[in-house]
Amino acid sequence: MHRWTVVATWKFGETACAAAGALLREGSSSLDAVEAGAKAVELDPAVQSVGYGGLPNAEGVVELDAAIMCGRTHSSGAVAGITGIRTPVSVARRVMEATPHGMLVGQNARRFALQQGFRDETLETEASRAKFQTYIRSRRTPEVAHFDTEPTHDTVGVLALDSRGDLSAACTTSGLAWKTPGRVGDSPIVGSGLYVDNEVGAAAATGNGDEILKVCLSFLVVRFMAEGLNPQAACAEGIRYLLRKRPDTQWHGAAVIALSRDGRIGSAATQDGFRRPDRLWIYAWDQGDGVCSHEGEYVPHSR
Ligand code: ASP
Repeated sequence: MHRWTVVATWKFGETACAAAGALLREGSSSLDAVEAGAKAVELDPAVQSVGYGGLPNAEGVVELDAAIMCGRTHSSGAVAGITGIRTPVSVARRVMEATPHGMLVGQNARRFALQQGFRDETLETEASRAKFQTYIRSRRTPEVAHFDTEPTHDTVGVLALDSRGDLSAACTTSGLAWKTPGRVGDSPIVGSGLYVDNEVGAAAATGNGDEILKVCLSFLVVRFMAEGLNPQAACAEGIRYLLRKRPDTQWHGAAVIALSRDGRIGSAATQDGFRRPDRLWIYAWDQGDGVCSHEGEYVPHSR
């Protein structure tokens, strides 16, 4: 019997850990747990960067990205740019289990979801509509909004280890607010937004997805663990590599969490971009003693 563990990005990761932990405690699989954890955040309208209530693209359309990966079978499924479905992580799981494919996109992802019995529902809330109207009025370009001090993005990444010793990961986001329609970040891309190697560990990323996907951050962190680094050192090394290759990532920020197959946890973020009073790098976890959250390590950019 392994000690179960769940870890998730950001303060709202507490919601994910509570939902996932409730299943893990009962002996459920890590796959069911990460799906439940991600879904709980997707369905929370107060979280404006994931699922229902997420902020829209530059034309006012909410486009969601999500992925799920099962360490036991090393299988994965993803959807990108899906509209009108509140729980894209569950559609991603359906892609994994009901098709031979790894990812479906846009209108065809939505069509698949509807065929699978998912409901077509509005993703907008009064609050998300109001923010979009403010954005329109401010006439900011998407590039300017990119560096808005408000949290106009943030993905929930969820990693779990179950009592059988199997790892899984899920990742779901509405991406960057006011993004160019069709833009897809790191989150639904295996190796970038999430990665699992059942013999080693799992990782998930959040932050500037346009940069994270250029270094396959989650895969990199899992490889560092395979080479012998503990999850904390592997996360810091991954962020250091990203900052070395793409120094400008520091301004917008990127972060990663990791979980080893023996239940050790790690997390790191770029110091600039995330170490601000209005935007601290927080991650959440539960290992059977209740959900907690804490500030993670910051990696400075060294020239
Ligand atoms: N990584 C996400 C994206 O670029 C956003 C975030 O996590 O802040 O779509």
